[in-house]
Amino acid sequence: MSQFNSSLSAFKKAKKYLVGGVNSPARSFNNLLTPPLFIKSAKGSHLFDIDGNKYLDFCFSWGSAILGHADKDVVAATIKALKNGSSFGASIEGEAELARLITSTIPSIELIRFTNSGTEATASAIRLARFHTKKELVLKFDGAYHGALDYNDRFISLPYNDQSAVEKAFQEFKGKIAAIIVEPVCGNMGVVLPQNNFLKFLREISQKNKTLLIFDEVITGYRNSLGGAQGHYKIKPDLTTLGKIIGGGLPVGAFGGRQEIMSQVAPLGELYQAGTFSGNPVTVLAGIATLQKLKRPNFYKSLIVKADRFVSELSYIAQKYGWRVNSWGTIFTLFAANGKIFDFQSAKKSNIKKFAKLHKHLIENGVYLSPSQLEANFISSSHTEKELKMTLQKIEEFLAQKNVHVI
Ligand code: PLP
Repeated sequence: MSQFNSSLSAFKKAKKYLVGGVNSPARSFNNLLTPPLFIKSAKGSHLFDIDGNKYLDFCFSWGSAILGHADKDVVAATIKALKNGSSFGASIEGEAELARLITSTIPSIELIRFTNSGTEATASAIRLARFHTKKELVLKFDGAYHGALDYNDRFISLPYNDQSAVEKAFQEFKGKIAAIIVEPVCGNMGVVLPQNNFLKFLREISQKNKTLLIFDEVITGYRNSLGGAQGHYKIKPDLTTLGKIIGGGLPVGAFGGRQEIMSQVAPLGELYQAGTFSGNPVTVLAGIATLQKLKRPNFYKSLIVKADRFVSELSYIAQKYGWRVNSWGTIFTLFAANGKIFDFQSAKKSNIKKFAKLHKHLIENGVYLSPSQLEANFISSSHTEKELKMTLQKIEEFLAQKNVHVI
């Protein structure tokens, strides 16, 4: 393990002081065959660890860095903001500009409130839905992740893509369901797509029952287009949560929706929601710099062309060796599984031991996949065709080994 000596000793030290040595569990590389990497820096499509290894990144801080790491315009905006003071506990003009950029690209968001993380955004949206509807229960889907919330008995969790389970829940808990919260395209059980008009069905059943529909677009927002998954599927949720990309790689979250609902948040309404660092200048200016670049003509067009080519070649390779790829534009998961993956149960059938072997092979060959089987990988505008081709070669080289398939 000499390739990882410094990461190994950094992890040993971290475990003495930090819970499990990390500040977010996936960083501990549980179920993987290499030690968790400690990163020194990142630039463009690459990560550099403290042992001096270089990796082509497919995680990008879980999808935050769509422009690649340390994009020069985002860095310039961040430095400029920092030089002028990082937080005032008072408003800056940029907050409204970032809000304008978002509301002009995602029409279901008429008013917005920024937070410091996706978790805070979803927690706030759920509080608002309960406050607005005066109902308690929240319907979510198995394997979906909406941040580190307390999923207690005020939540009902059902299989994703299962319309009859949703219908039954509305019958059983008639008049009690405040909200449905859904990742319109799941990223947190690996990439799983909505099937058979599932989102349209959720829109209709929620409307019929006076339940709010919350699209958690923390991953899907600005991922493949300016309009998010709701633009792609042409469904208007009541509330939307955002995060990751809109902060240009700095800590961020946001929730927004129809004026009539959002007006219930303080200071317009009675639902108190606040944050010392919410809408802070560093995040806001980095977010504006990012969205301005995403709005450039052809930004998404060329990104999607690149992603489509990569993913279709990856699917072809995967199929040859009995693996499977699920994808949505620039996000994909390579499952160590053969059958269709359409919910958490089917996603869990993938063989995490085989995935761990793949992950190790790629790490040893300079490619960093997201460090868990049931997560998404991300293609950024900084990936080159050459890098993507090299990745396909490394993956095929691994899958072609006979012993890979024997566990
Ligand atoms: N919602 C979704 C769909 C996510 O993927 C995540 C995080 O990955 C969150 C919410 C929570 O966001 P954060 O990690 O910024 O708290």
